[in-house]
Amino acid sequence: MRILRPHRLGLSLFPPRAHSPKHSLPFLRPFSSTPHRLLLSTELTPALLSSLRASPTRLWNDIHSTAQFGIGNAHGSHPHETGLNRLALTYEDKLARDWFAETTKNLGCKVFVDEIGNQFAVRPGLSSYPAGADGRREVNALSDADVLSVPATFAGSHLDSQPQGGRFDGVLGVCAGIEMLRVLEENWIETVGPVGVVNWTNEEGKRWKRSMMGSGVWADGSKEYLENVWALEDGKHSVKQQLGNHGYMGTVRASVKEGVRMAGHFEVHIEQAKRLESAGEKVAVVSGVQGYKWFTITFTGTEAHAGATPWEDRADPVLWASTAIKGIAKVVKGLGGLATVGCFDVKPGSVNVVAGEVTITLDVRHEGDEELQRIFKQVGFVLGGLKGAMQNDGKQCKVDMKLDFESKAMTFDPIAMSCVEESAKSVTGKEQVPRLVSGAGHDSVNTAKHCPTAMIFVPCKDGVTHNIREWCSEEDCAIGASVLLQSVLRFDQRRQTPGNLQGLSD
Ligand SMILES: [Zn+2]
Repeated sequence: MRILRPHRLGLSLFPPRAHSPKHSLPFLRPFSSTPHRLLLSTELTPALLSSLRASPTRLWNDIHSTAQFGIGNAHGSHPHETGLNRLALTYEDKLARDWFAETTKNLGCKVFVDEIGNQFAVRPGLSSYPAGADGRREVNALSDADVLSVPATFAGSHLDSQPQGGRFDGVLGVCAGIEMLRVLEENWIETVGPVGVVNWTNEEGKRWKRSMMGSGVWADGSKEYLENVWALEDGKHSVKQQLGNHGYMGTVRASVKEGVRMAGHFEVHIEQAKRLESAGEKVAVVSGVQGYKWFTITFTGTEAHAGATPWEDRADPVLWASTAIKGIAKVVKGLGGLATVGCFDVKPGSVNVVAGEVTITLDVRHEGDEELQRIFKQVGFVLGGLKGAMQNDGKQCKVDMKLDFESKAMTFDPIAMSCVEESAKSVTGKEQVPRLVSGAGHDSVNTAKHCPTAMIFVPCKDGVTHNIREWCSEEDCAIGASVLLQSVLRFDQRRQTPGNLQGLSD
């Protein structure tokens, strides 16, 4: 057992009971002559499990107190009404990471950091202790190898934000995971397999243009991919330098097989759209995530004087880029997808100069990979057509398109989704829980490649996100966290079947 703290005495929701000897759980002797009480997750009755809830106040406090690490611009007068400016591997991110490590250690976890800075807090389960072990069950009595010997079921998300992002995107998922640990601790619940919370590095992909970067490296697991990501530059620093500078270059391999293995991954996240809010729903099971591709497109024309160059002599890449963007939007809309140009860079960028070069980014998305491939082809046709038309017009037009990143469409695991669905029903008391496809990418896309994964959505006000106004109510945050807590426990209960302790992990 972990350290006995006074607040844990008498706080249990459950009638005290000695642990059955068949689990070989030793009793806590140093402080009391009474047998120590633990309740194994598999001994929770359906009614008891359904009654477990996250504490709204504790969770709310964690979300807002950690927002001090990288406080963003204000959008109101209340102290909570600011955004979050916490780019990955900045000093502010380091402070949030330090808080994560301290908090989870105090909740009975061992914390591991891998070579890409992903933080894994693991709370040992019954299976982490050597068979027949006696003495006090204390996490620090276990070796790192013991703690990692059985893959844990993780709750996870990210603590980094966009430059003027909100307080909930990613943060809710990590804080809800921490709240899960608190509920397990205060109710003396022991899980079959270990459970944990993971803080993935640079999910936002803003500082280094690699979305879901940390989970991507972990999921790929190869040294080559790691080296490639380490070398990414933000203009000043490489990923590797910043990991070192902030003390987050871990020693554990960033690898799904050789590093921290996972039995399952559950992520609660704000929806980042308005579907739940419009339908008056509190929670949804996420059935999958759209696929997407990121491109950089460069149009090269000829720099010229804005006053002295007649129309017929201009090769203006700003006009070509604008025509291309309209054309792309039209075809992608026609194919049921989404297209976004988030960056538009004009060179040399002078009021009285016809530009010589325009670089745009393009993000295209669709729920289906085949449709996404069709979109990719159509974008190529639009650009090819434009190039042809310009050349027919006697202009030297150059268009280059480079694929920067892609993430395939993902369907989540049916067993993990059923754990979420059952938990959502028990928390909300509703008979039906909506299923939604996520428009945004999440770390869960990467974990889903290797272990049963599911996501939980809660509404966010007006669907606003990546914005300082992003908002999720205290009640809705807590509903999401309660569903997360119960989902992880329901998943853990399934691990008692022989073979499921290792077998659920890839
Ligand atoms: Zn996020």
